[in-house]
Amino acid sequence: MSAHRYRIYDPLTDAHIPLNHEQQVTSYWRAHPTQPEAPVTDNCNVLPAQCETLIIGAGYTGLNAALTLAEHGHNVVVIDAGAIAAGCSSRNAGFVLPASGRLSIQNYSDTFGADVAAGVLNEFNAGVRHVEQLAARMHTEHGVDCQYAASRYLRIAHNSGQVAPLQQLADNHAPWPRQFLTAADLQHQLPGVRHAHGALEQTPAGRVHPLALAQGYAQLARAAGARIVTQCAALNITELPSGCDVATSQGHIRAEHVMLCSNGYANRQLFSQVTTRQLPALSSIGVTQPLSRWQVEQLGLTPNDLVMDTRRLKYYYRLLPDQRLLFGGRGAISGKDAQHPKYQAQLHQAMLATLPVLRGVGFKYAWSGWVSVALDSYPRSYQHSQRISAALGYCGAGISFASLAGKRLAQRRLGHTLPPLPFYQRAPLQFSLPGLRRTGQRLYYQYARLRDNLNW
Ligand SMILES: Cc1cc2nc3c(=O)[nH]c(=O)nc-3n(C[C@H](O)[C@H](O)[C@H](O)COP(=O)(O)OP(=O)(O)OC[C@H]3O[C@@H](n4cnc5c(N)ncnc54)[C@H](O)[C@@H]3O)c2cc1C
Repeated sequence: MSAHRYRIYDPLTDAHIPLNHEQQVTSYWRAHPTQPEAPVTDNCNVLPAQCETLIIGAGYTGLNAALTLAEHGHNVVVIDAGAIAAGCSSRNAGFVLPASGRLSIQNYSDTFGADVAAGVLNEFNAGVRHVEQLAARMHTEHGVDCQYAASRYLRIAHNSGQVAPLQQLADNHAPWPRQFLTAADLQHQLPGVRHAHGALEQTPAGRVHPLALAQGYAQLARAAGARIVTQCAALNITELPSGCDVATSQGHIRAEHVMLCSNGYANRQLFSQVTTRQLPALSSIGVTQPLSRWQVEQLGLTPNDLVMDTRRLKYYYRLLPDQRLLFGGRGAISGKDAQHPKYQAQLHQAMLATLPVLRGVGFKYAWSGWVSVALDSYPRSYQHSQRISAALGYCGAGISFASLAGKRLAQRRLGHTLPPLPFYQRAPLQFSLPGLRRTGQRLYYQYARLRDNLNW
């Protein structure tokens, strides 16, 4: 197999994002849609010459921003280089979490104080409720079944040193529903899971078919009047006194305001003042064939268990409704070897070390996607300048918060007051040597693997 076969689009090395880049990988979700994609019946896939707000990126963030703006009568256009949800929004694990970024509530409390931490928790929970409400709406109004179901989110301590911090989170952040499960509880509930020293159980949380969720958002946004133009890549943004001129693969468009909702997928030349405030990092997933009844019983997992461990480079897993096991974690570093079998083998080994009862079960599907990591580890939905706003930095937890962050971008544009939280008030830090992001990432991965392996 030539090295080229392993390659996917890489936002840090490729000057431009290719059209239809989602076709470089086949995720389980695209291979198992809940319904055929809604046909586009009129000329709405054609780029107009101007609009009030142009949104770059048709994932959860961009589609939620578009929905909110269109519902307020705003003339809004969304463009995407690929199909709807070409990026992370069609490739994730479907955990709808009361969390985003990499900081714990304790970290927020230590950095910003207890009141802000309470507001953050409130906002994360609002994100889950937001997804839940729109999932119900897309079903009622458009018949889209995104398979949303309330679930529990378990963070399992992978070594004894992680037990006390989880216990502390369970004790300190009442009144939100969270409880601590001991190793004995876990042995009883999830007998097939190894290295389970205790867990924090959190609700509200949910599970979803991620692609169907994005397609449902798109239907809601289109019905409200938003125009979504796919296979249209933004090449360059020029700020003008009266608005922005955006050069795209389908020609130029003038907009009063541009929202960058392009997440880790934003190509390096798009708008460096924003794109150098994130590190695009690959997260990878493998999905098995359907497990036998015996294997499922041995595991003890149900489709309502969303599990993540406490490693620095985390593993996460869930049993899908058709009894396949989805297992994810950090993958390769660069796009050129994202699909290299070596990384799939590493992920598979991690699955067997965690769930040994799956010995002999291989991955039927394997793929990766670019998550956006902020230098200070928490997400943003912020105003960059009078004409440009952006949302980024969700890391591996963006289904609920990206959906809400998109709505917040739109609310700011409409002049609404946002909750006084750091997500909405400060720009993310710029990487001071953006050309060295990959080098820093490699060093961090080595350090993190060492610590994770030494149970340190
Ligand atoms: C493997 C994996 C597993 C994950 N699991 C979970 C999970 O279980 N739970 C969770 O909460 N989060 C998870 N995430 C993260 C979550 O999927 C993302 O945070 C979320 O989808 C971000 O949505 P978004 O709309 O901001 O970005 P995206 O969905 O990534 O959309 C960005 C879009 O911008 C487009 N774009 C970029 N540049 C341009 C350009 N120049 N011109 C036009 N279009 C452009 C891309 O084509 C893309 O469609 C996971 C991510 C990955 C990769």
